[in-house]
Amino acid sequence: MSDCLFCGIVAGRIPSTKVLETDRTYAFRDLHPQAPSHVLVVPKDHYVDLADLAATDPTYLGEVFAAAVEVARMEKLTGGHRIIANTGPDSGQTVFHLHVHVLGGRNLGVLAG
Ligand code: AMP
Ligand code: ZN
Repeated sequence: MSDCLFCGIVAGRIPSTKVLETDRTYAFRDLHPQAPSHVLVVPKDHYVDLADLAATDPTYLGEVFAAAVEVARMEKLTGGHRIIANTGPDSGQTVFHLHVHVLGGRNLGVLAG
């Protein structure tokens, strides 16, 4: 989608700091990190959210999560990490191209609403 921010990042039209790339996924640093390590993992193709990709290609969804696990390993988040996929208005999702947040590098505390 030409007007999608994360499609623009995948295509290289919008700059990003790459962490990991696989055949169908791309991982890059969040512009406003909420933890010492804050990486976003996206499918290279445009899907709105988890439900969209799960309904279309569950194998691809597995690749996104496998990439997130690999990012946590690469970032040496040995103390643990948090993986979040905001979905819809109540979650505060602001970019409607599926992305998984990988957060770590400090004690993240309890998940607060
Ligand atoms: P969400 O609220 O789950 O939709 O998360 C969107 C995330 O994208 C936020 O954490 C933003 O800081 C991040 N973000 C927005 N624009 C950019 C960008 N150009 N490069 C990297 N991360 C971005
Ligand atoms: Zn997109």
